[in-house]
Amino acid sequence: MKIKEVTLRHLQMKLKFPFTTSFGTFQDRDFILLEAKDENGRSGWGESVAFHSPWYSEETMKTNWHMLEDYLIPALLNQEITHPDEVSEVFSNIRKNNMAKSTIEGAVWDLYSQQKGVSLASALGGKKSKIEVGISIGIQETASDLLRIIEKHVEDGYKRMKVKIKPGWDVDVMREVRKEFPDVPLMADANSAYTLKDIDTLKALDEFDLMMVEQPLASDDIIDHAKLQQAITTPVCLDESIHSYEDARKAIELGSCRIINIKIGRVGGLSESKRIHDLCESHDIPVWCGGMLESGIGRAHNVALTTLSNFTMPGDTAASSRYWEKDIITPEVTVTDGYITVPDQPGIGYEPDVEAIEGFTIEKKTFR
Ligand SMILES: [Mg+2]
Repeated sequence: MKIKEVTLRHLQMKLKFPFTTSFGTFQDRDFILLEAKDENGRSGWGESVAFHSPWYSEETMKTNWHMLEDYLIPALLNQEITHPDEVSEVFSNIRKNNMAKSTIEGAVWDLYSQQKGVSLASALGGKKSKIEVGISIGIQETASDLLRIIEKHVEDGYKRMKVKIKPGWDVDVMREVRKEFPDVPLMADANSAYTLKDIDTLKALDEFDLMMVEQPLASDDIIDHAKLQQAITTPVCLDESIHSYEDARKAIELGSCRIINIKIGRVGGLSESKRIHDLCESHDIPVWCGGMLESGIGRAHNVALTTLSNFTMPGDTAASSRYWEKDIITPEVTVTDGYITVPDQPGIGYEPDVEAIEGFTIEKKTFR
C-alpha cells in the first residue's frame, strides 16, 4: 500500500460534563483527526490523543500538528508499506513524539485491515467478540456527588469504577465509596500526584481492596514505584511511565508494577501496544486499555486493541454518550450491561460521519 494523501483536521468537541483530574478541569476536547488515503482512494482514520495543554505528557495538539506536517507525513507519503508494523521503521530516526506517530500509524492499520477485508480487531490478532468496560470518574466537588455518579454507573452495568485521587481527596473518599459499595470492583488513579513521602497515605489505601492504584508517583519514574510496590499490597499499575516495550521490560524487571495500562497514543501506536501486550502476557502482568477522552475514531481503535487475550481487566473505553452529545461515527459506541460488542466489519468497524466531522472542524490541511 501507498499513502497518497493525508488530511489533518483540528476538531473541537464540547464535553457533556467537565472532566477534572489532579491537573485541572476541561470543558472542551480539542484534538487532531487524521484521514489517510491509499492509491485506491480508500480512507483510513486515526486520532491524536494529545491534549490542548501538556498536563498529561509533553505532547500537545500543536506539537502533534507540527510533527505530522513537518516530519511524519512527508516521511510516509508515497512509501511502499506491506504491513503497518513497518511504519515505526519509517519513523525510526524521529525520537519520541509517540502520540503524533500513533495518529498516522492508526490510520495505516485501519487502511490495512480494510484492504484485507477484516476487522481491525482480527488484523491485530484479537479474538473477543465483546469487551468489558469500566468507567473513569474525575474529582468531584463533594464525596456525595461521587457516590451518586458511581451509583448510576453501577446501575448501568459498568464493570469497574476508577476514581481519580489527589492529596486531600483520597483515603477518606475511598472509605466512603467502599462503605456504600463494598463489592464493586474499584481502583484509584493518582496521575502522579504523590511522592514517596506520601507512602503512609498510599499504604492506607490497602484496606479498601482496590484492584490497583494507578500511577501514584512521578510520571517518568519506575524506581520509586518499585520501592512503593514493595511497601504496599495494592497492585501498582503504571500509565504515564510506560512509553515503549523497553520501558515495560525495565518496569517488570524492577518490580515497579503488577499491572500496565496500555494507551495506544502514549506508546506510539498499535504495533508497539501489541508488543507490550505480548511481553506482559509472558510475565503474567495483566493489561487494560486506558482512555484519553477520545472521539469515536480513537474509541474504535481502543475497542479493537482490547480484543487481545491479555486485556483481562476492564478498560476506560465507555460509551460515546458518556462524553459526547453527538459522536463522529455511526453507529456510536454503545455499552450494554458493561460490555461493548466488537464490530466485525472491515477496518475500525464504525463509519466516520463526515458531516459531523466537518461540523466540529476548525482547521484543516491536506498533504499530497
Ligand atoms: Mg491514568
